[in-house]
Amino acid sequence: MGKVAINIATGSLQTEEIIVGIDLGTTNSLIAIVRNDSREPIALRETDGLTLVPSIVHFDAYGNATVGNSAKEQLVAQPDRTIYSVKRLMGKSYRDVKGEAGFFAYNVIDDDTDSLVKIQIGKRFYSPIELSSYILKELKARAEHILKTNITKAVITVPAYFNDAQRQATRDAGRLAGLDVLRIINEPTAASLAYGLGTGSSKERTIAVYDLGGGTFDISVLTISNGIYEVLATNGDTYLGGDDMDNALAAYWAAQINADNSNKQLMQSLRVTAEEAKKHLTDNDRFEGSIDGVAVSVTKEKFNELIKPLVDKTLTACANALRDAGLKKEQIDAVVMVGGSTRVPLVKEGVKEFFGQEVYDKLNPDEVVALGAAVQADILAGKNTDMLLLDVTPLSLGIETMGGLMDVLIPRNSKIPGRAGRQYTTQKDGQSGMRISVYQGERDLVKDNRKLAEFNLTGIPAMPAGLPKVEVTFLIDADGILRVSATELRSGVAQTIDVKPQYGLTDDEVEKMLLDSLTHAKEDISTRALVEASTEAQQMLDTTEKFLVKYSDMLTAEEVATTNAQMEKLKQAIAAADKDQIQHNTELLNEVSRPYAERVMEGALKDAMKGKKVM
Ligand code: ADP
Ligand code: MG
Repeated sequence: MGKVAINIATGSLQTEEIIVGIDLGTTNSLIAIVRNDSREPIALRETDGLTLVPSIVHFDAYGNATVGNSAKEQLVAQPDRTIYSVKRLMGKSYRDVKGEAGFFAYNVIDDDTDSLVKIQIGKRFYSPIELSSYILKELKARAEHILKTNITKAVITVPAYFNDAQRQATRDAGRLAGLDVLRIINEPTAASLAYGLGTGSSKERTIAVYDLGGGTFDISVLTISNGIYEVLATNGDTYLGGDDMDNALAAYWAAQINADNSNKQLMQSLRVTAEEAKKHLTDNDRFEGSIDGVAVSVTKEKFNELIKPLVDKTLTACANALRDAGLKKEQIDAVVMVGGSTRVPLVKEGVKEFFGQEVYDKLNPDEVVALGAAVQADILAGKNTDMLLLDVTPLSLGIETMGGLMDVLIPRNSKIPGRAGRQYTTQKDGQSGMRISVYQGERDLVKDNRKLAEFNLTGIPAMPAGLPKVEVTFLIDADGILRVSATELRSGVAQTIDVKPQYGLTDDEVEKMLLDSLTHAKEDISTRALVEASTEAQQMLDTTEKFLVKYSDMLTAEEVATTNAQMEKLKQAIAAADKDQIQHNTELLNEVSRPYAERVMEGALKDAMKGKKVM
């Protein structure tokens, strides 16, 4: 049951909380939702009419932060207090960004090369997570203002190449901003989702997502089949984007008007006007303007000539991505255009020509990622049942084996649907049943994990211990339902059960289970070693016991006595739960019994061969 609430502003009944989609970009960020009435994703538009919020944070002398366009205005006047491109620093250590330090006009602190970077503003130090949280807080506040309701849940996008640390940092930024980040999804996946690509059809499709933003270029090749997105290759340039087009044009004008390069103010004005010109040229053939009273102009033709090398660079990266994915251009089923800079006609033409096909560009390229995040949010909210978007298993799935150990069949983060199988055998002679207990979790002992189901495989024909081959298979279907089956391969006896693995687990619980597995890792490893040693020792004891009974007449009284004494020592070691002593005494028991065991086995073999021909 969802919560029921009344939206005071609209007076309407609100049964579910809205989950928003957020594109936390290097240059611009924005927030989108799926409209309840039309079921269409839309970018939220503030009263200023704008959807994009520049990803810029400015701090005044008192440490008060402003975000967005008003912060952007401070870029020239207060470069040391105006933070841009903080996304480049997410989850990075100083060592990681050492080579890029020149890019940042603000102070990136390098007190300790191994620790995560910090940014100094006045007397305070900020982490990139904190700075990103200011941007997210601004987006949240905007959404709350526009929708007139509380927003606490979000889906946030990240580049496909983001590693675990960068994804975690993004999640933490969300949390700091008061957002429960239900999922982090890849930007190219979001863009494909916004176009509804790959959903609603089971045929596998291969998609190229070309994303040229303000300062970065990413090309991603993905496949989608049955609602599962898989990134085959990513390529690009983390310092190539629309800003470089602005700079190229600014440099061209600077040379024309003999501008003084050291005049920062003038240089910035040139760049601002260049960006204006670039946008103008998207729909016009000529731009005319003025900088500090000096007239400047540029034709589309000239502009294209200036940016041609930049466009060519992106196409080389596309070729590399295809090569890495092992694909030919003709194997790409769809090309999706993302990022404000794909509005530039030369870029669009270049990409069309390169892939030899039309491109997906109907949606706003600077909004498409957020729109896709909103679609994903809608799916998570359970409102969109036509679309299936699958993920990975949040926790490992396995069964209990001897000594209460967790034997993982499907590790966490495995793609679904998926399957895995493993063979097991019986412990006792004539054992006719086997209990299969299914668990979910990261700990080595099942008692610390979560039990999902249990069933008995019965009717195994009587066989000596170790002879039956029981194959246990785990199959997770597209709906995330786990089907566990066990089959005794020699007899064909089989049993199957369905389990819902995620059922009842909240994100927090999953997180707690993961944390527990980390804090207990050491302890788990030693417990596992002890359990394994004890299990092996117990098997050795059982076999020896059986042997003594069966072949008593072939052993000397002395042999029986030393064996019994050694068995006693081993039992004591097991009782004392001393792993080293158990292993040591198992070894000793092995040594004591080896000579007569070999003797007996040789005799038995001779008996068996009697009267038989050797083939
Ligand atoms: P990011 O993903 O890096 O946050 P965006 O996708 O918002 O960036 O793209 C920002 C870039 O798009 C800027 O360089 C901006 O100048 C450029 N841009 C926006 N609109 C246009 C346009 N109409 N024509 C050309 N470039 C544009
Ligand atoms: Mg972007």
